[in-house]
This record gives sequence, C-alpha cells and structure tokens, in this order.
Amino acid sequence: MNFDNFSSIFIANWKLNGDIQFIKEYYQKLIPSNNNCVVVCPPNIFLHQLKTNNSNLFSGAQDVSIYNEGAYTGEISAAMLNDNNIKFCIVGHSERRQHFNESNKAVNLKSINLIKNKIIPVVCIGETLEEKEKKITKDVLLKQINESIPAISNNQNTIIAYEPIWAIGTGLTPTLDDIDEVHSYIRNIDKKFNKFKILYGGSVKSSNSADINQIKNVDGCLIGGASLKVNEFNTIIS
Ligand code: PEP
Repeated sequence: MNFDNFSSIFIANWKLNGDIQFIKEYYQKLIPSNNNCVVVCPPNIFLHQLKTNNSNLFSGAQDVSIYNEGAYTGEISAAMLNDNNIKFCIVGHSERRQHFNESNKAVNLKSINLIKNKIIPVVCIGETLEEKEKKITKDVLLKQINESIPAISNNQNTIIAYEPIWAIGTGLTPTLDDIDEVHSYIRNIDKKFNKFKILYGGSVKSSNSADINQIKNVDGCLIGGASLKVNEFNTIIS
C-alpha cells in the first residue's frame, strides 16, 4: 500500500470488546478524516459488520493463524482474511505474546503469510517495565525486530508498532523525547527500516494524541481503550 497519501495512520484495537449494537452506533458517529488512514480491528466475528471504503477507512484483524489450511480447529488463515477484504492485521500484540505464548518466530511466520496474501502486518514490539528499569529496552526491541520481521517486509507491506508493555492500558506513557528516541533507534537499526511507518501505542487518548503525533518519528498510533469511545477516537483521528 502506498502510505504516502496519508498524514498519519491510526489503528483501533477493540480487543475482546464490542457487539452489533455498539458497532451500529460507532459507525453512525465515526468521522474518518480524508488525509489519515483509519483501521478498525474488532473481534473477527464482527469484521463483516464494519464499514470500509478502501481509501481511508479499513478493517483489520487482531491476529491470524500461522497455518494456511488444514486440521487446526478455531484458526483463521491469512487467505481467509484476504478473501474478506481485510487489509491489515495486528501481530505480536503483547497480550497475545503474554497470554497465548506468541513467539517472535510465530509473529515472523504470520507476517509472511499475511504479506503473501496482500495484508499488512502491524508488528507490535515493546519492553516490559522490568526491562525498561534494567535499561535494556533497545536490546529487547532489537531482538524482537530481528526475529519477528521477515526478510520480505518493506515499508509498503509492513508496519511496526512500538508499544511499551508498561504503557498499555495503564494511563502511563513515555515522555515525548523517549518516544522519539526509541522510534529513531528502530528506524536506524537497518537501512531498510528508514522509510517504515512506525506507530506508537500505549495509553493514547484525545488529550495526548496531538503531542504524540507531532513527534517527527511517529507516523500514527495504535489505540486500545480510547478507541472504544467513538467521540474520543474521532478527536484522535481528526
Ligand atoms: C493496545 O491494546 O494496543 C493499546 C495500546 O491499548 P491502550 O491504548 O488501551 O493502552
């Protein structure tokens, strides 16, 4: 996808929330702005209920199988997502890494399957509070990037989301300088990441999104809790 047409990319991660009435009301009020790319990621069963326009409003999945087909009860493949006009998929979210033992290797495999099916993996990386306090954030991110991002990834087919785990759902955020420093570090790990879109995620809300978004190395945000309140989300994406 050519992201150059967009000023910023905003991805709503609804996690395990939402129902049909919620979706109806949400899309009556949602105002995607023309110059930003907005992606809403509901639980898979609701993907079909969401409005998309294939120009600046898209639907995304929150996960995908590492398998392509076969005897894997409960799984959904990248080809199935593609068949249903899904253009984005979050992979390696810290909640999946933590509660479902998702490894860097699995994230890498999922990303390959997605890219081959013309879906953009949004690869999440981030350090725990303990790792931050030990001052090993950069080492942790380097390992996650090296192991989770496949060789076939490029700035048109893959997005990176930096989500410090200690900032997710806690109301805490790194300082603006810290976000800039980490994003700049990621961008410079390898020449190939220079032009990648790198999103920030972790307690983004309407009161801090403008400041975060104006950071030079931030290309948009991945938003959890605040994306469930449509008025709040409208302010973030406006
Ligand atoms: C997330 O789930 O990716 C996230 C960033 O959550 P929150 O915005 O609620 O911190």
